[in-house]
Amino acid sequence: MPFKNLNIIEPILRALKTEGYTKPTPIQEQAIPIVLEGKDLLGCAQTGTGKTAAFAIPILQILRGEQHPEPHLIKGPRVIKSLILTPTRELAVQIGESFTAYGRHTGLRHTVVFGGVSQHAQTNALRSGIDILIATPGRLLDLMHQRFIHLQHVKIFVLDEADRMLDMGFIVDVKKIVAKLPTQRQTLFFSATMPTEIQRLANTILTHPEKVAVTPPATTVEAIEQSVYFVAKSDKRLLLIHLLKDKSIESALIFTRTKHLADRITRDLVQAGVNADAIHGNKSQNARQRALNSFKLKKLRVLVATDIAARGIDVDNLSHVINYELPNIAETYVHRIGRTGRAGLSGVAISFCDAEEKPYLRAINRLISKTIPVVEDHPFPLSHIGPGKHQDEVVKGVTGTVRSFGSLKASRRKWSGARRGR
Ligand code: AMP
Repeated sequence: MPFKNLNIIEPILRALKTEGYTKPTPIQEQAIPIVLEGKDLLGCAQTGTGKTAAFAIPILQILRGEQHPEPHLIKGPRVIKSLILTPTRELAVQIGESFTAYGRHTGLRHTVVFGGVSQHAQTNALRSGIDILIATPGRLLDLMHQRFIHLQHVKIFVLDEADRMLDMGFIVDVKKIVAKLPTQRQTLFFSATMPTEIQRLANTILTHPEKVAVTPPATTVEAIEQSVYFVAKSDKRLLLIHLLKDKSIESALIFTRTKHLADRITRDLVQAGVNADAIHGNKSQNARQRALNSFKLKKLRVLVATDIAARGIDVDNLSHVINYELPNIAETYVHRIGRTGRAGLSGVAISFCDAEEKPYLRAINRLISKTIPVVEDHPFPLSHIGPGKHQDEVVKGVTGTVRSFGSLKASRRKWSGARRGR
């Protein structure tokens, strides 16, 4: 079905053509008519499904329809008519880019506000008057307190990635923001997963919503070659360096649960001669964007990220995702490995599992309804020796470097052979 069957107006159709979009994705096909009718929407969809356009296109169309035919005759500055609330800076920037792309012929103006950078450029943009605001919760509240932002004219509110808001501890902030919105409004609520607390939040802020769900996780998971290595926590570093000697790993996104560990792994990898960098919330916005761009351009082979920082990262041809630590929420595993295997391409997802993480692995296997194959033949098996001791023996026994392991190469050959054969 082409976009024009969804009754999209010509200026937006033209912009979509420039973007090279030929037909709507499933979430767009379902959500756009609902939003254009002015109804509330509960969308169960994750990044990568085209959900940004699913809300951006109808918002642009509705606001364009309400535009004054001669905007220069309007007295006073523009007011914010649509608010998009999203959890991370990366997502905010990507959503801003989408509005720029789809709205380029509409005459509507938007801006993006997020923390971690000076507010000066953001307040200047706000002062000049905008129709659409894309924001992360902390900076939005801050600018509202400073009276740079007023939400009383908002007609369409989007809550993006609600489950991430919960994970990141933003739910109280979200509720504070919602309390400042007019009660008469259209609300679009997106979440990849629907835990009880999110369902409860949705019930409080939506009015008779239409529900739309797209389920790429299952299909995505199918297309990805997954494996798990049982390894002691203290041996994960050695196993990672060992695996990265395989040159067929062209680009790898490595996940950790904490910023501290992301930094430590990056240091270890750089020391071992691997081209790696980290992105997480403690890094400046510029440093994160720089690392992400190098990774996208394939100048950087390995990017180490926390779940939060990696949210919304959209990298073409990402060959490997490595879970250095298993996530304690099974859905997060699906989010993580969904970064590879995009657009029907095959991808490889490798997970390290130490003794304490075994319950997480069981939960993941349950969620994806299959048992992730275990790679048993590797140099750092989780043995009866226990964490720590094994590594000491390794270092003492073998002249201090991983490279001197005779068995490593053989095992790697076996591992790559197994992969090729699968
Ligand atoms: P999102 O889920 O919004 O992060 O979108 C994922 C990617 O799909 C982005 O790179 C979009 O530019 C792209 N995209 C969105 N809608 C379409 C479409 N209808 N056709 C082709 N690509 C699209």
